Amino acid sequence: MSELKDFKCPNCGGILEFDAQTQKLKCPYCEGKFDPEIFDEGDHFTVSSGLWEDDDMIVYSCRSCGGQIIADRDTAASSCPYCGSPVVMTSNVSGIYKPKKVIPFLLDKKQAKERYRQFLKGKPLLPDKFSNEATIDEIKGIYVPYWLFGGKANARMWFDATRTRHWTEGDYICTETSYYKLFRSGSVRFADVPVDASGKIDDLLTESIEPFDVSQAKDFSDNYLAGYFADKYNISAEDSRAKANSRIATSTSSLFASTTGMYETCVPSSSSISINEGRQDYVMYPVWLLNVKYEGKIYGFAMNGQTGKFVGELPIDKGKLARKAFSVFAAVTAALSVLQYLLMR
Ligand SMILES: [Zn+2]
Ligand SMILES: [Zn+2]
Repeated sequence: MSELKDFKCPNCGGILEFDAQTQKLKCPYCEGKFDPEIFDEGDHFTVSSGLWEDDDMIVYSCRSCGGQIIADRDTAASSCPYCGSPVVMTSNVSGIYKPKKVIPFLLDKKQAKERYRQFLKGKPLLPDKFSNEATIDEIKGIYVPYWLFGGKANARMWFDATRTRHWTEGDYICTETSYYKLFRSGSVRFADVPVDASGKIDDLLTESIEPFDVSQAKDFSDNYLAGYFADKYNISAEDSRAKANSRIATSTSSLFASTTGMYETCVPSSSSISINEGRQDYVMYPVWLLNVKYEGKIYGFAMNGQTGKFVGELPIDKGKLARKAFSVFAAVTAALSVLQYLLMR
């Protein structure tokens, strides 16, 4: 059954939202604050069933204003487009869809906008007009579903390495190169390797804002979702496992390679890595997504809602790029002329 929950203040009936600054459910009217870990929904949540649904969409009626809230089947938290009341789609955060942990938002919308402005600073190729004219078209805080995988990698790796020494004997400079076959073997345990479990958000964007500090995660309660968006997973743990294993294998290889620093050259010649798969957990991580409109095009940015790590692609001013390339060319030409002058003297 599709049900919708909203968040009413027990003091005044106002609409509660999770406040990143205080880490509390906060009422904007009476300033009441409630601990999301222990706030008991029993008396204060109102529940309404979906009005109608089809294969893709579910339509709910907002209990605060009667407006229609349209959500797709993956939506776990949203807000009423008419009155702004936060709502949670309970069937998408319970049963097999109930996350084990959630990292609550630590940074709010105001801080996300500030980080965006900082991000634009010191970018020499950014068009001047961008900072003044580009407008934030949309900014939203979304809890992104992730699978966290554990596992143990057993690895054997071979490397071809060399070491050289030089010395002089009379008129001769001697060089001796020694060739080594290196072998490394061992096992590495991994915990909480994250894989984005939503097919809707660009994986490159979510991977770029990692890492999240999972030690700060709380036991899941849908109170944390109040005022934010959330999606349930739509990529299963089985379908995400291969990606986690490939991340584990890559990390293992670079860990083993880091033990060969005492050689001058070292290239891996062969390796075998097998992974004993461990348990997996379902969690939600906080992400700010910003869409910025500039000259008819949308530029997407993302910020880690816990650490503030900010990523995104900016437009490049072609004039500035050409001038920069020219100034590098001019510097090289100047250096060459000095060299020529010195050679001709
Ligand atoms: Zn209140
Ligand atoms: Zn409403």
